[in-house]
Amino acid sequence: MYSAPRSILAVAVFLMSSLSGTVAFPQTVKFIRRAAEPLPVANLPLGRAPCIRESGSAVSLSYPATPARGDVKSPCDASAMSMRSVNPCNPASLTQIGCKTSRDLVQEDLAAMGKPGQKILRARDRVLEILQTENACSAWFREKDSNPADTFRTLGFEVDRNGEGFVLESKGPSNMTIFRNPYVAKVFQGDGQYATVTINTNGAFFYAMAGVVELWKEGGPISHRGPRLTNVGPYAGDTINAQMLVLLHEFGHVLDLLPADENNVDGKSVQNTNEVVRFCRAEIESKARRGALSAWR
Ligand SMILES: [Zn+2]
Repeated sequence: MYSAPRSILAVAVFLMSSLSGTVAFPQTVKFIRRAAEPLPVANLPLGRAPCIRESGSAVSLSYPATPARGDVKSPCDASAMSMRSVNPCNPASLTQIGCKTSRDLVQEDLAAMGKPGQKILRARDRVLEILQTENACSAWFREKDSNPADTFRTLGFEVDRNGEGFVLESKGPSNMTIFRNPYVAKVFQGDGQYATVTINTNGAFFYAMAGVVELWKEGGPISHRGPRLTNVGPYAGDTINAQMLVLLHEFGHVLDLLPADENNVDGKSVQNTNEVVRFCRAEIESKARRGALSAWR
């Protein structure tokens, strides 16, 4: 049941530079605490608690403040118009009639979701291949789940079409410039089977670039500038590598294999992504290469 308070985790891309040089933090994760309430699937995008975003804490202990806090509106406040792929075989669902284990209903729903669904499906297939075989990545997930592929297969997907699509630029302490990219994906921490992964259609899962919006304190003007490249960990946005990494990262939260990374405090989101990369990089890049080869045929 869904009566306990839960948390939503989101992957976002996070870049930061200072006037004295450039320091890039390729990824952060936004952690959203949600008030306790039942979570019927149909209500998922509605009534979200206001989100607090924090920036700066990922930089180093030299920047303990959270300069962008309060200045940036979180996308999770938006009433999401979303398409979703909900597995009707979820035991919590009232519509289990006709469910057969031989059918992959999530796959069918994604296939019917149009282009976003196709991209998610492609990454999902590759991740399933990774999890179904013996390798360092699947062994890592088996620390928490003896059959991670079976659990991953139950995950539903939805897309957030109202997710933010701009890089937000703001000033932090010591005139530091902070760039916060749109969030990429989010999921409830420790949700287990039949969890729903929400992917921002305007984030780095689907786009390699995002326009920059400068935010000035004290109600100053908002100005738009040219696009910046987005990325997920070491991979450029809108690549199969990045998409696999996003799904593996979120799956790590679903299994509680990765710790919560609220607001990227102490750079935990970056650490989590690095952890996924550490165990799964070889498989991610192997699957991506294999996909590229087959595309030539
Ligand atoms: Zn995370």
